[in-house]
Amino acid sequence: MQKVYLDNNATTLVDPKVKEAMDPFFTQIYGNPNSLHDFGTEPHPYMRLAFDRMYKAIDAPDSSDILITSCATESNNMVLKGVYFDILRHGKRPQIIISPVEHPCVTNTARFLSELGVEVIQLPLNSDGIVDGQILKKYIDPNKTALVSIMWANNETGLIFPVKELARIAHDNGALFHTDAVQAIGKIPVDVRDADVDFLTFSAHKFHGPKGIGGIYIREGLRLTPLLHGGEQMGGKRAGTVNVPSLIGMGYAMELAAENLEFEQTEVKRLRDKLEDSIASIPDTMVIGKRELRTPNTILVSVKGVEGESMIWDLNKKGVAASTGSACASESLEPNPTFVAIGFDSELAHTGIRLSLSRFTTEQEIDYTIDVFKESVERLRKISSSY
Ligand code: PLP
Repeated sequence: MQKVYLDNNATTLVDPKVKEAMDPFFTQIYGNPNSLHDFGTEPHPYMRLAFDRMYKAIDAPDSSDILITSCATESNNMVLKGVYFDILRHGKRPQIIISPVEHPCVTNTARFLSELGVEVIQLPLNSDGIVDGQILKKYIDPNKTALVSIMWANNETGLIFPVKELARIAHDNGALFHTDAVQAIGKIPVDVRDADVDFLTFSAHKFHGPKGIGGIYIREGLRLTPLLHGGEQMGGKRAGTVNVPSLIGMGYAMELAAENLEFEQTEVKRLRDKLEDSIASIPDTMVIGKRELRTPNTILVSVKGVEGESMIWDLNKKGVAASTGSACASESLEPNPTFVAIGFDSELAHTGIRLSLSRFTTEQEIDYTIDVFKESVERLRKISSSY
């Protein structure tokens, strides 16, 4: 049976070129980079190259910092809790602002901080399903807001947030600005200098790098209290021996992601649009979010009368991997705020199916998926109407 992987917002395959670049660092160049002997210093130039590649890919000034973490979840925890340790704990500015569609590693960290006395504001979305500058201006408080944390692109819908404008508003009000750019890197241009963000989170496995490694861009002059205390690795900013093979892989993967941006925005988008147009031609389906506001690889579609989960299982039987796109944002079965914002009723809010492509997706795979998707909708609608 043919297999088609259309769940690239969950994770991506490691680019074979990246894997090849990582290989020597398991069995040949394996010294601890903090050791003083030659085995320890041997990885240094390769690590430097990995950092240089990342600085270039996101246009980070040399004077800024890129901190290596184990994943985006750790990065987001470190930013929110770091700001808590530095500012919020002393009651200087007791408030954090987030969007209602952040990844759980932001929302649950914010919830934890609210138990410690931090005031957390979840902004409403506009009718396009994003936070715009007008909304942030309405809620930000120049005397209270310490941090605004709003993702660059949403993992479920692909909707892109106007981070440059949001960062400017945060700064105008004396607040720091953090963005979770996990779903943006490799899909749309990410330029920290232009967007003028203070902190930016990324994760290698979302852009054809290895799992278990991520990072934080930190603007020059800012510091984050470490989450992990221990040795003096990374200048004491994060203790623990750095995962050298994965760092090498992440640097190269980010360089390739930047190099492939045009391909992503033309060829991947062309295939995405082809799939989206075919799905949208099925009666009573609705793609969430305006196409021009979304990353080029993502479709979140609601199929009336079909539970998202049933659809995923049915597609899986035919070898197509998709995701529910979290029709429900949490275990409380609250409808996804994006569905609510763009005016879907509660019935449709449970019918989300996310298909996410990558630069490795082929036209043949898309053609196969189009057929399988149509058959699946027909079959499941027939079953549900027979009850
Ligand atoms: N942020 C966003 C927007 C994500 O999509 C994800 C993963 O799905 C994460 C954070 C967490 O990434 P990681 O798996 O690296 O912890």
